Amino acid sequence: MTPLEGVIRSIIESEGPMRLDRYMALCLGHPEFGYYMTRDPFGEAGDFVTAPEISQMFGELVGVWCVSQWQAMGSPSIFNIVEFGPGRGTLMADLLRAGRIVPAFVNAARVHLVETSPVLRTTQMARLGAGMAWHDTLASVPEGPAIFIANEFFDALPIRQFEWRAGACFERCVGIGEGALRLGLAPVGSIPGLAQGESREDGCVIEDTSQRDVVAAQIGLRLVTSPGVALIIDYGHVHSASGDTLQAVRRHDFVDILDHPGEADLTAHVDFAALAQAIAEQGARVYHPLTQARFLQAMGLEERARVLAVKMGDAAAAARDRLAGETQMGNLFKVLAASSPGFGLPYPFGSA
Ligand code: SAH
Repeated sequence: MTPLEGVIRSIIESEGPMRLDRYMALCLGHPEFGYYMTRDPFGEAGDFVTAPEISQMFGELVGVWCVSQWQAMGSPSIFNIVEFGPGRGTLMADLLRAGRIVPAFVNAARVHLVETSPVLRTTQMARLGAGMAWHDTLASVPEGPAIFIANEFFDALPIRQFEWRAGACFERCVGIGEGALRLGLAPVGSIPGLAQGESREDGCVIEDTSQRDVVAAQIGLRLVTSPGVALIIDYGHVHSASGDTLQAVRRHDFVDILDHPGEADLTAHVDFAALAQAIAEQGARVYHPLTQARFLQAMGLEERARVLAVKMGDAAAAARDRLAGETQMGNLFKVLAASSPGFGLPYPFGSA
């Protein structure tokens, strides 16, 4: 039993079955035993690999996008570049290095990192230097012109799951059965997002992503109060759909979400339609999401891979394929852009 499983069992014993959002929040963020709070999980030797860790090209091309958006904003002499969940700081390091092609961009940038993990904050500081500001949430990031970036951040924010069974509504909860953690169903009056009288087929799972939508709304509000753009990259679907997408990954393999609490990464697919709606409801503009393949290709992935191949050989093309290949990250990962209301279309995005 992991130490966190002991903590979770004692909460369940005293308070009853636990909602999945609480379970997920404890698994990822428990101050002592939470997955992100205790380790650097990235890379071949860790549990999973993210796009910035696959190749410098990813952060560089995001950097080129940021420079072009900063210019479209009228090249403000000071602006905030805010990254949510920066991991090892690799994306930001590559972005800023690519940004040096326009020195005024780097000079104007004030870097703000929204990160809850003390371990990863230390890694980010070692990578990026001390001239950055760290925050627990967006609330403490100063107002002003801004570019917001999030790669594989929203998938780590807790979700709830509901199930439609025999004409009734239930919430999926973690309880204890036969001496082990078990998923169970707790009756509820209604399912968020399901209108009164609306039904689903038996066993249908509906995910509630309101914790993510709250963060998306905060970004949307910032885009309305100050000029700015946002780029959200994650794995997920463009249109809302029902289904269980919660998954646990450990050492590059899927494991049961109830095994190894605190020692496996827990994520769920991002519902981009819900994120876009939360941003748009604040009055910001959202654009139709692109696949990661289309976004990176439009930003010059092919050319960059060719230049890198001179130095790296075949590894450059292999990295390009991992990032943009149809059966790799290219299709599953989506890129959503949003901007202040008066902005023109941010290349390479089209209207929503
Ligand atoms: N963007 C990075 C890391 C993705 S993993 C990359 O692409 O490599 C998720 C990141 O979000 C980690 O840095 C994790 O510590 C951070 N994180 C998870 N939950 C968070 C929360 N609620 N608030 C802020 N950061 C969080």
